[in-house]
Parts: sequence; structure tokens; C-alpha cells
Amino acid sequence: MGLPPLVEPAAELSVDEIRRYSRHLIIPDVGMDGQKRLKNAKVLAVGAGGLGSPALLYLAAAGVGTLGIIDFDTVDESNLQRQVIHGVSDVGTPKAESAARSIAEINPLVNVVIHNTALDRDNVKEIFSQYDLIVDGTDNFATRYMVNDAAVLLGKPYVWGSIYRFDGQASVFWEEHGPCYRCLYPEPPPPGMVPSCAEGGVLGVLCASIGSIQVNEAIKLITGIGEPLVGRLMVYDALEMEYRKIKVRKDPDCALCGDNPTVTDLLEDYEDFCGAVSVEAQEAITGSTITARELKDWQDSGKDVFLADVREPAEWEINRIPGAVLIPKGDILSGAALAQFPQDKQIVLHCKSGVRSAEALAALKAAGFKDAVHVQGGIVSWVNTVDPSLPSY
Ligand SMILES: [Zn+2]
Repeated sequence: MGLPPLVEPAAELSVDEIRRYSRHLIIPDVGMDGQKRLKNAKVLAVGAGGLGSPALLYLAAAGVGTLGIIDFDTVDESNLQRQVIHGVSDVGTPKAESAARSIAEINPLVNVVIHNTALDRDNVKEIFSQYDLIVDGTDNFATRYMVNDAAVLLGKPYVWGSIYRFDGQASVFWEEHGPCYRCLYPEPPPPGMVPSCAEGGVLGVLCASIGSIQVNEAIKLITGIGEPLVGRLMVYDALEMEYRKIKVRKDPDCALCGDNPTVTDLLEDYEDFCGAVSVEAQEAITGSTITARELKDWQDSGKDVFLADVREPAEWEINRIPGAVLIPKGDILSGAALAQFPQDKQIVLHCKSGVRSAEALAALKAAGFKDAVHVQGGIVSWVNTVDPSLPSY
């Protein structure tokens, strides 16, 4: 089932525009009318990272008249493996600004609006209301649920995508015509169950596969051509080279768009809703947390520290804190590695950002190591505050 075009056509195309978009104009289904609709469209990309990079490049090239970019992050060298809108000379600069420069190079006719800020519950509705369509390329569950809730509350459609290692998913959520993200995923996964791309990795080119699906859907929605991915989930397996489409129905019990909604406004705290760490881990780290600086002071003062890095071997290959021993979290949780921990030393755990080490700390304390502590912010904090010469990832 097709849907009517989301955007009214602009009054006209200039001679420059007609030349530039000629390969669109000669497609009968797009034509002058479709290109004018693209010109009039205002699309917001949430995130100028893995998915946002290819999405913004193609939205700009396609002639979307106004492109908003919201991202508070700066370009890091480890982004360049997949975030193709940024280059070497952009490292260290804000992603939103770097993306805007690339867009100007590809299509100076696009009006770019930079939101160099973090999307939060206080600004999300106001920012979304300036656009016809949202393209969501966020990489965390807290922002994902917030994007969904704001879009549903405002009645806006959005194109969602997610990527992990060799797997990608995409769909269009538009409450007026189909299910929302909460209909598909009513609850966020338990903390620690689904690793982020920073922890689990992502094949760079997967971003292009899923980002291009997102742009394809955006163009269809704006111009009203084809059958949009509303009520269908596209699942892509790059290793099998297989695309599957799964029907997603509107859930009458959905907390947000169901018959008796319990969520009627944005949540107070999405981080809390998605639980950065589990209750057990939260209890374990209370009063048992040190900073990276404190760890360094302990080491320098000659304190007898047993430092366990609970990350995975591949992460250990990238960087490590001097004096650390690699004991992956899974081996602590299963109990297999408990014998490696000494009884007579100060045990300190660290991971990348402090979430996995909190979980490992809970398991270790439950096994009797009551004095163990973990490092807040993990090796990321160590790189930032103690040793910036270590590579980051
Ligand atoms: Zn719903």
C-alpha cells in the first residue's frame, strides 16, 4: 500500500537544479514533481556517525532542500573506518560541522542546519518539529526510545536503522499508518545483553547497506512513490547476503501508541529506562568505585594492586593499562576465572567505559571479594585523564 507524498512540491526548480537532477527528472515516477518535493523537504539526521554518514551524503546528493544534523560528538580516528562523510582533516572537529562541510562540497544547494548539541528530552520535540522526517542513526537504546516517543507524540514519521557486526535492521515507524518502535521492541534489552558497536564492532560497509535503505525510504516517503517500509522490518545478514522482511503489526497493548497508552509524554530519564547498569551492578559499585587518576596514584605509590581488564581479547590488542591482566567478563560471570584472583591484593577491575566492569564487580563481590573496586569510565577515562598517548577506540 502506497502512501500520499509527505511533502508539498516547491514552486519551481532553477536551471542549475534541472541540470543537476536530470537523472532523477527522467525517471517517470520521480520526475519534476518528485524533485520539487525533495527540494521542499526538511529532513533531520539524528547522528552523523555510521548510519548518518552515508545517509546524509545521499540525501544531500538527491536534492533534499533542508538537511538538519544533530550530533554533539567530535570526529575520532576510529570513526573513519565507516563514517565516510568525515576525513582525516576533520579529526577532532565536531561531527555536525564536518558533515556540513562535506555536504556543501557535494551539493551547495542544500540548506544545512547544524545542531551541535546532544539530543535530550528538553530539546527533542522542539528540534523535531522543525522537520518533515527524521532519519534515526543513533547507536544507543536510550536515544532510540526517546526518538520514537518524540516522533509518535509529534505525529512525525521516521526511518530507523541499526547495525551490529554483520547484521543490520531498518524500518519506517509512523504511528498514523503503522506500528512504532515500542510495538516492535516494547522493552529495552537488559543492560549488558546487547553490546554497542564500540564494544562489539561493526563492519564498516554495513553502514552503507543500511544507510542507503534509510535514504531510499526517506525519498519514497517524501515523494509518495513505491511502498514504504511501514509495518515491515528489513533484516539484513551481510555474511549470508540475505535480506528478510518481517511483518510488524501495531500492538494494541503498546505503552505509547496502543489503545490504553501509559506513556503519554516523554520519559523523565531515558538512560534510567534503559538502565545503564543492572540493579546488582549499581549496588556493587556504590562505594567501590575509583577514578582512573586514583588508580594511577595507587600504582605510583606502590600499593599492591591486582588490575584485571575484563574486556575481550580483541580490545586488549588495541590498548591496555600497564600492569593489567586480561580476564574477560564472561569468565568472571561463569566463575571460571575466579581462581585467578588473589585474596591478599587490592583487586581493581576495568573495562572500556565502566559498564562491564560494574557487572563483573557484582559477580566478584558475590564470590566473596568484598574489597574489590572498579574504575569509573574504564580505559576511556584512563586515556583521557592519565595517558592520552594510548590509542583509543
Ligand atoms: Zn507502538
